Amino acid sequence: MSKAKIATVWLDGCSGCHMSLLDIDEGLLAVAAKADLVYGPLVDAQEFPPNVDVTLVEGAVSSQDDLKLINKVRRNTRVLVSLGDCAVTANVPSMRNGIPTNVLLASIYTKPPVDGVPALLKNALPVHEVVKVDLHVPGCPPKPEAILFVLGELLEGRRPELAGKVKFG
Ligand code: SF4
Repeated sequence: MSKAKIATVWLDGCSGCHMSLLDIDEGLLAVAAKADLVYGPLVDAQEFPPNVDVTLVEGAVSSQDDLKLINKVRRNTRVLVSLGDCAVTANVPSMRNGIPTNVLLASIYTKPPVDGVPALLKNALPVHEVVKVDLHVPGCPPKPEAILFVLGELLEGRRPELAGKVKFG
């Protein structure tokens, strides 16, 4: 039987949710027995591949690059999971919402950012305001046990029952 395909995506987040994923420790071996990690900051893949079974998304949608990527991720993913408070509510990245982007950038850079810096959206957005999300897993970051539970259930074809297992913050 062929293995499932898992991806992870790092949008506007601090990488703490990915660190929590790595903190699954030996649980990663159980996941690896059932699925291949095909995209994300932990693997060397340049393009998001087609036919991904489960994608965990960390971070808010904050830039044009984020927007382009999350739309491609959605098209190519069966079960899309918002992982962590930044993906679920926009959390920390949304603290800049309400400040015009030109004012924000002028407060940070002495000169306008050079080519290659992705243009900011007016607001940092939770993922579900941009694309359909199949499962929300809050936490800042979500606990490793919760992430392992989510992956285990999804890989068995079940919808994870998260009551009592996750909380915001
Ligand atoms: S939810 Fe918390 S840990 Fe995850 S990316 Fe946002 S700030 Fe970092």
